Amino acid sequence: MKSVFIAGATGSIGQNALEVIESQKNDFKLKAFTSHSNFDKTINIIEQFAPEYAVITSEENYNRVLSRNTTQTKILYGLKEAVKLIRDEKFDIVLNSIVGGAGLEVTWQTVNSQKRLCLANKESLVIGGDFVMKKARENSCEILPVDSEHSALFQCMASGVENEIEKLWLTASGGPFYNYSGNFSEITVAQALKHPNWVMGRKITIDSATLMNKGLEVIEAYHLFSIPFSRIDVIIHPESIIHSIVEFIDGNFIAQLGPADMKGPIQYSFTWPDRKKSSNHKFDIFSKNKLNLIKPDTDKFRCLKLAYEAGQKGISYCTALNASNEVGVELFLDNKIKFTQIAEIIESGIEKYGNFKPQNIYDVIEKHQEIKETLRAVRSKK
Ligand code: NAD
Ligand code: MG
Repeated sequence: MKSVFIAGATGSIGQNALEVIESQKNDFKLKAFTSHSNFDKTINIIEQFAPEYAVITSEENYNRVLSRNTTQTKILYGLKEAVKLIRDEKFDIVLNSIVGGAGLEVTWQTVNSQKRLCLANKESLVIGGDFVMKKARENSCEILPVDSEHSALFQCMASGVENEIEKLWLTASGGPFYNYSGNFSEITVAQALKHPNWVMGRKITIDSATLMNKGLEVIEAYHLFSIPFSRIDVIIHPESIIHSIVEFIDGNFIAQLGPADMKGPIQYSFTWPDRKKSSNHKFDIFSKNKLNLIKPDTDKFRCLKLAYEAGQKGISYCTALNASNEVGVELFLDNKIKFTQIAEIIESGIEKYGNFKPQNIYDVIEKHQEIKETLRAVRSKK
């Protein structure tokens, strides 16, 4: 029986992971989880899975859950407590499914504690990848990608073949607007939240609409697989059946295909190096008999270009890119800016705040927070 810690258990990935645990309950047991502000889902998880610990990262929700809890589960407050648990307790698997740069501390502690990190929180590699991957290599820590594209690439390449790889091709659904002919500045929040293939949290859904999600994933792939940016490319694949492709130096391509269901990559990250039968996956291979591959338009989708540029310039620029994107998405979701202004905020954020020299991971965390607060303050004055 493997013990699992889920950071961000009330979110879209977290809930899918709980389904995986439920369907494989002879092999996996939820020992601890974190949740932020969703009271009902927090209580449901405690009652259904009876974990030893629940860590609540929003104070208001912590007080509500504490007063309502009648179970044996210990209720703790704050991300610092989650980090301490990862450090001090035995876990076979830590799934990081927190959204945004807030997930970096969990990634960092897991790598330092030499526990298996199943990583959905791509932002922690975007901003902390240099430090995280160095520490993971020193500690021989297993990082298993949960992002479907990186799970696909990981499945397509056997270990030790890095020098046989010509290129990594990350597929992107293209979101709702890859072939949109209307005016991009008039795109509404409701339109942008309507993803054609995937049901996901709000932030990643907007990131998919701007193609910033793919930009973040290019940086994630660079860190995970040590392949230079010049050999990582993006293809729009609106059917979301091919999850990514590895091109080898001898001209062969290996792709991974499957349904658009995150339970696939989550389960594989838990069971690797084995594969276990799954009741979750019923995929009719004839249901999609046409698979399109289209070149992305980076003039229309500037966020993708900005991510490549920041990635090539290094960690401080990636931190500014990610922080500005988090604020841009937040403002768009609050109807305070237009869809097209997300890219404008990122471009000026990188220019103004991207040039600094972090000495360690805590510099990155601090700077990321500082940039977000500065951008919010500048905006609230407008
Ligand atoms: P979500 O918004 O549905 O859930 C986010 C989780 O993070 C929630 O459990 C919430 O409690 C927690 N959280 C939010 N703010 C927090 C804070 N300040 N401190 C601590 N915890 C906080 O997001 P999601 O769609 O599940 O995505 C989670 C991560 O996985 C993201 O990094 C996303 O890019 C990545 N990812 C998601 C999908 C998907 O299908 N949803 C696919 C690939 C990768
Ligand atoms: Mg992805």
